[in-house]
Amino acid sequence: MSEIRDAGLWESGERKMAWSKRYMPLLNSIEKEFLRDKPFAGLKIAVCLHLEAKSAVLCRVLAAGGAEVRVCGSNPLSTQDDVCAALVKSGIEVFATYGCTMEEYAHYMEKVVENGPNIVVDDGADLVSLIHTKRPELIPGILGGCEETTTGIIRRRAMDREGALRFPMLTVNDAKCKHFFDNRYGTGQSVWDGIFRLTNLVVAGKNVVVAGYGWCGRGIAMRSKGLGARVTVTEIDPVKALEAMMDGFEVKTMDAAASEGDVFITATGCCDVITARHFEKMKDGALLSNGGHFDVEVDVKWLRDNAVSVTDGRDERTKGYTLPNARTLFVLSEGRLVNLASGDGHPVEIMDMSFAIQALGARYIADNRGKLPAAAIEIPAEIDDDVAGRKLAACGMSIDTLSEKQREYLESWK
Ligand code: NAD
Ligand code: SAH
Repeated sequence: MSEIRDAGLWESGERKMAWSKRYMPLLNSIEKEFLRDKPFAGLKIAVCLHLEAKSAVLCRVLAAGGAEVRVCGSNPLSTQDDVCAALVKSGIEVFATYGCTMEEYAHYMEKVVENGPNIVVDDGADLVSLIHTKRPELIPGILGGCEETTTGIIRRRAMDREGALRFPMLTVNDAKCKHFFDNRYGTGQSVWDGIFRLTNLVVAGKNVVVAGYGWCGRGIAMRSKGLGARVTVTEIDPVKALEAMMDGFEVKTMDAAASEGDVFITATGCCDVITARHFEKMKDGALLSNGGHFDVEVDVKWLRDNAVSVTDGRDERTKGYTLPNARTLFVLSEGRLVNLASGDGHPVEIMDMSFAIQALGARYIADNRGKLPAAAIEIPAEIDDDVAGRKLAACGMSIDTLSEKQREYLESWK
């Protein structure tokens, strides 16, 4: 059934998965519990995630829980064909190829839901939107789903507000053990990993402009500073702008920052953050990259339509757009999430925490079938605490426990 590039690539995919698994103690502990309890026996799980080794480990953990798992990629450029081959070899159905067209991408998603899933693991709301708009007849069979990322949750909440969400969706991103670590430290490190792989350039001494000082932006700005860059932040939220200022960053409008930046990194979840009027002010050789959900933060379409010439930079992932003013701006990974399109995404230990929330969230849906409302639902605090506890144990760390007297003191109003 699977549709992948080449089943023969499995060996290198298996090696990448084995490497990741070694550093994923949380998922390993959950896998043992799933093998024992089989919480998904008789259930079908549809997964849409960046199809690289860590996501593949999660798919196997879900399968260990008794689920029949089907999976597609969540971005054409983050799919790794060797990892897909390894998953297929272990009996999981995969519909994904690296660099597929948007038509193929849509076709793969349709294949993943074709067998009528009971649980949906989504990253950016693509599967859930598809089911609600094109396959509503599948809804009665769906117990619920888990959403991985900020932009997906914004979309789910919008559906919920309009009464359009027809099955329970756990907001995985909003769990503390997800966005505190994944969005901040994960994006902070992996965005630079992607930029390094593409450019082979130094960061120290460069002017780096970070658009958005949310969870991702904070991490990117922090790591940029740590690498020796001079960092400017742009924001639309006055409080976050002040926070950035207090954290030691310059805060400016994009109009003011455009002429100064050597490297621009967007992480807002918003469109048109860097557009024509900014491009026209930029230095020759400026690098434009995006860490936010979609390729709409940098107006690449304007560059495509208005550049006098387009050339490959270091390779086709560093496209140079020469403007009528004779300056060339380089767009990394077509303006898609640079950490995933040109790297392996977040580091292993970070995804271990995020996917522990996903796995326990999926189990929560199975265990509470029929009891959850059709709404955007927060991850229960017990799951967050459970994941934090597992992580502390894995790191060999202990923390203090409140005495009865301390608890009473903290809870008293007198
Ligand atoms: P967030 O809501 O915490 O932060 C977004 C910030 O951007 C906010 O502070 C907001 O005020 C600011 N902003 C919005 N529009 C802006 C504009 N036009 N100019 C300047 N600032 C603006 O969200 P987050 O968790 O940081 O996620 C940001 C984006 O990154 C989302 O699209 C999310 O889905 C995505 N994301 C990507 C990765 C990755 O691996 N690359 C990981 C997690 C999240
Ligand atoms: N469909 C979107 C996907 C959003 S990506 C797209 O068009 O690209 C944002 C999410 O990717 C984050 O919430 C983060 O948890 C996840 N992510 C980051 N690195 C990852 C990795 N190595 N493997 C799987 N998911 C990853």
